[in-house]
Amino acid sequence: MLPLAGDFESVEDVRAFRTALRGWYRTHRRDLPWRRSRDPYAIWISEVMLQQTTVATVAPRWERFLRSFPTLERLAGASEEEVMAAWSGLGYYSRARNLHAAARAIARGGRFPSTSASLQKLPGFGPYTAAAVASIAFGERVAAVDTNVERLLSRYLGVVGSEGRRSRLRRAAAALVPPARAGDHNQAMMELGATVCRPARPSCGECPLAPGCSARRAADPARFDLPRGSRRPRQVTLEAGLARRRGRLVLVPDLEMVRGHLTLPCTAVEEAGQPGAALGRRWPELAGRTARRVRSLGRISHSVLDRRYTVHLFAVEEGDRSAARPLVTLVRPERVPTLARGSFLDKALSLSAEEEQGTEKRARSATGKGSTSPSGAAAAPAPGPPPPGAAPRRPTG
Ligand code: SF4
Repeated sequence: MLPLAGDFESVEDVRAFRTALRGWYRTHRRDLPWRRSRDPYAIWISEVMLQQTTVATVAPRWERFLRSFPTLERLAGASEEEVMAAWSGLGYYSRARNLHAAARAIARGGRFPSTSASLQKLPGFGPYTAAAVASIAFGERVAAVDTNVERLLSRYLGVVGSEGRRSRLRRAAAALVPPARAGDHNQAMMELGATVCRPARPSCGECPLAPGCSARRAADPARFDLPRGSRRPRQVTLEAGLARRRGRLVLVPDLEMVRGHLTLPCTAVEEAGQPGAALGRRWPELAGRTARRVRSLGRISHSVLDRRYTVHLFAVEEGDRSAARPLVTLVRPERVPTLARGSFLDKALSLSAEEEQGTEKRARSATGKGSTSPSGAAAAPAPGPPPPGAAPRRPTG
């Protein structure tokens, strides 16, 4: 029997909605690479990526990820570092960690779970992802409700007020899922919400649902939108140290910005202390050597999700080994783009390079050497320290 939600007045209303949506999707659906696949693994990867970025960004990244890990078993057998490297630039790294953990759990179980309920037992599978994968890959009659679908239904049904609103929209979404081709229906709902019933300036004139839409009748779609949550960004101030051993950068596991990456040793700033004092004092436990000298290189602003970092960067000249044995990785600067991946690290290396170039220029002008060529033309700038990805010019330390 067709489940009916109170917001639809009759079975005919539900059928009319589905028919209009299906007709629109048949002619307007975008040809996306994951839509050519029936492989639950490939569909799952696309759904996780699509939660955090646009279709245009996801398409090449999805293909590249599947080239690196063509099967679930390959993903399950990969190291965390390999998975993080493949995910680099997509953000929300906890999703990549969950993806990896879920792949391992599925591989251990021996088969891909085919229902929304069983998928939700896996790491990272919330109701939306589970419903999307179960309906698209296995045809389960279950509604996948993302923010696009919520907005579309809220406008169409003219839902206002916050009391019980989400569950009302979910009931309505469930009532609309047809017995066959549930995956196509869910994708059509999401696509219409993303491309026509957009958050700002929806194209009601091109919408197949316009004849029955409450918001269209009220000529005010935004009145029916769900209130947006407002989260203020968190401000974090740190001191970070850049040291080299035999020309290699001293890196440690990132516990602050992006877990699973490598980064510079860093510590929280002490309000009352001298700049760099906390870093110098904590360097033995952070990096396993004493700090002989700590010199300011400048300040970096960096954002990760809702956190805004201000990082005071210091060059650290290291001394003897300390008793502490922290986990330190020595990395050639040219490997930074592939291994450490964090744009904070790139910013730190660029700032260090600029600062060293400035120091060399000042030294040359002080000695009167190298400021002009014998002909009076400007001399070529002296080579600076290695930018990220370049071989170190000279070993330090
Ligand atoms: S008619 Fe306008 S407001 Fe209503 S569902 Fe379509 S695009 Fe959204």
